[in-house]
Amino acid sequence: MKFIADFHLHSKYSRATSKDMEVETLAQWAKKKGITLLGTGDFTHPTYFAELRAKLEPLGNGLFKLKKGNQGIRYILTAEVSNIYTQGGKVRRIHNLIFAPGFEEVEAIQSRLGKLGKLSSDGRPIFRFTAKELVKMILDISPDCLIIPAHAWTPWFSIFGANSGFDSIAECFEEMAPHIHAIETGLSSDPEMNWRLSALDPLTLISNSDAHSPNRLGREANAFDCALDYREIIEAIRKKERKKFLFTIEFFPEEGKYHYDGHRQCGVIFSPSETKANHYVCPRCQKKLTVGVMHRVGELSDRPEGFVPKNAIPSIHLIPLEEIVAEALGYRIGTKAVETEYERLVERGGSEFQILLEATPEALATYVPEKIVEGIVRMRQGKVSIVPGHDGVYGKVTLFPEAKREGGSEGQLKLF
Ligand SMILES: [Zn+2]
Ligand SMILES: [Zn+2]
Ligand SMILES: [Zn+2]
Repeated sequence: MKFIADFHLHSKYSRATSKDMEVETLAQWAKKKGITLLGTGDFTHPTYFAELRAKLEPLGNGLFKLKKGNQGIRYILTAEVSNIYTQGGKVRRIHNLIFAPGFEEVEAIQSRLGKLGKLSSDGRPIFRFTAKELVKMILDISPDCLIIPAHAWTPWFSIFGANSGFDSIAECFEEMAPHIHAIETGLSSDPEMNWRLSALDPLTLISNSDAHSPNRLGREANAFDCALDYREIIEAIRKKERKKFLFTIEFFPEEGKYHYDGHRQCGVIFSPSETKANHYVCPRCQKKLTVGVMHRVGELSDRPEGFVPKNAIPSIHLIPLEEIVAEALGYRIGTKAVETEYERLVERGGSEFQILLEATPEALATYVPEKIVEGIVRMRQGKVSIVPGHDGVYGKVTLFPEAKREGGSEGQLKLF
């Protein structure tokens, strides 16, 4: 069957997350979004894991469903861990995702990792051993587990990050590198950017929301056509099976927080060539600029922009429906008007992905206001203008640049 999966999110036990990040609320939002399979996130956290055990029923195929509540949503046990250590005279900070096939494996992972770090202080625990040792430990517990470097390009906490990463999978994982079958591209990069590195051709590129609140679920995701079965999904990722792994759902990467280079405090937004022209120094404060994902991809790439490798899994770029509604209505995200319209649309349209990916403009026109339909059509055609994200600030997407008023405020268009 065809379904959409979002593997990477965080529970309420992680820092800076919404209190609503618990499995029942996640199921409600997954339904609104059109997601069938959700990572649990944070399975290393003892209290959260006790909740998962109490609330989820194993289906015997490595996936889970709620005992009470929405029976249609499936869960897969996932977690993210942070490894901070010195290698080659440089401090490395790497985030990795772990997939596990069952509660027993998670128990074994907890008892092993619990001796090496504090699991209860954060849903995403920090360890001082290497990423390579993490792979050894996890695969030693079960070869059915999967480890995937998370948001592979972000400057501070990723395998290829400009500040504390490596230049290759092999440099990081050494003899364990053959066990790395995939990387998560993260919000600030898309598969197209990653295709510029021939070294990544053997890997599968996955995309996830890394959501800290339920409305962010599925802002990036993965579309499969296979059985809802842990092993089958893991195999599709490991072997990059194009018939089973259909496409990824992407942010426009410019919208990601680290796409461009710059300085948040100084309001400096630079392209890679502007950064080089300024010798990596901020012209306002004279400190080192934060080098973003596009720059870093450029440094490690051996192919021009636009190159499409054979066997690449396609991607589709979307803007979250809430953002389209907000811009069309001229209100900010999080306002009552936007929330009410969003709820009405997903109720009527079946789900957010149904509306953004599947529905024809004619079908949308029967219940979606004209301007929002226009926004969806423009998004599908890639007709968007974006101030790129930089140094931790999200990019700003505009679908209706002609509606911008002087002074650059949110716009005051009222349609209804
Ligand atoms: Zn992370
Ligand atoms: Zn995360
Ligand atoms: Zn500065």
